[in-house]
Amino acid sequence: MVGMDERYDVVVIGGGAAGLSGALTLARARRSVLVVDAGEPRNAPAGHVHNYLGREGTPPAELYAIGRDEVASYGGQILPGRVRAVQREDDGFRVDLDGGDEVRARRLLLATGLTDDLPELPGVVERWGSTVLHCPYCHGWEVRGRAVGIVSTGPMGAYAAGLWRQWTDDVVLFVHTGTEPTAEERERLEARGVRIVRGEVAGLEGGADVRMTDGGLVSRDAVVVATRMVANAELVADLGTTPVPMEAHGAVMGTHLPADPTGRTEVPGVWVAGNAGDLSAQVIVAAAQGLRAGAMINADLIEEDTARAVEAQRSVAA
Ligand SMILES: Cc1cc2nc3c(=O)[nH]c(=O)nc-3n(C[C@H](O)[C@H](O)[C@H](O)COP(=O)(O)OP(=O)(O)OC[C@H]3O[C@@H](n4cnc5c(N)ncnc54)[C@H](O)[C@@H]3O)c2cc1C
Repeated sequence: MVGMDERYDVVVIGGGAAGLSGALTLARARRSVLVVDAGEPRNAPAGHVHNYLGREGTPPAELYAIGRDEVASYGGQILPGRVRAVQREDDGFRVDLDGGDEVRARRLLLATGLTDDLPELPGVVERWGSTVLHCPYCHGWEVRGRAVGIVSTGPMGAYAAGLWRQWTDDVVLFVHTGTEPTAEERERLEARGVRIVRGEVAGLEGGADVRMTDGGLVSRDAVVVATRMVANAELVADLGTTPVPMEAHGAVMGTHLPADPTGRTEVPGVWVAGNAGDLSAQVIVAAAQGLRAGAMINADLIEEDTARAVEAQRSVAA
């Protein structure tokens, strides 16, 4: 049970792959660590986690439950709940929890993930993660050889269609509100047998059938959309750092919290791991980033502990 004024070496905000992996590293480094987790990992709508070596196909909830047990087995604490605010206090941080409790930490690891802003199209939300997909490495194998539609809302539709063509030879690109493919893109898509459908999509029906505003219906087993990926990092704004836009192929994909390759942000004492800092991090990558950030936080604490010990030793000797 977490109480007022409790002080940890590290509070990890977010208990998905990134946060739990960071906490595991820190707990094994004999650091006192608290993970506060709101329990809404990004991949919760999906049935299974793919491309996670050694745990291929595990349901997300099961993977994270295993992770929580592993953290707890080394003395790490896990608290279901939400962090409401963080503030700098003395030489560390105060972490305010929903419900009124507050804890202290010498360092923070932000592992809060991102929010997928879905295109506003009837039928998308309820199919998200089952027949409405975004990532071929997460779901491509599961729809291999099936009828897939790419509903474009930005500049990446032609690129996405070419990518998904690797998993099936039945790909339709719905230009919808996205950018009209260039002549070169059209040539490339036609060469690979991708059909292009122009006109606006009205919504999805059945499994993932695409209803056009002109009334036409194109039967599909799965539909791919691009989400706007927004880092869940508003918490650290009071500490002096905010998410910045992330671009790829000349388009803004969303926002992320900037950090160095180890996850160290521009705010001393605050690290980031996983999707909050890197929109493209898959689960195993997020876990690896958590491990690296955890190790760097431990190194940073060792520096502080050593500097204090040297100071104390000198004052005794003086
Ligand atoms: C539908 C779908 C399917 C996917 N399938 C795969 C797949 O098969 N394989 C793969 O590798 N990747 C997959 N991904 C990507 C995967 O979801 C991410 O790689 C992964 O979730 C990133 O981990 P994370 O720890 O950074 O964030 P998350 O897993 O999102 O964890 C963040 C945690 O922080 C918590 N949190 C947020 N704010 C607060 C707060 N203020 N206080 C306390 N807690 C907070 C959240 O509730 C959540 O539990 C999929 C994504 C989606 C959308």
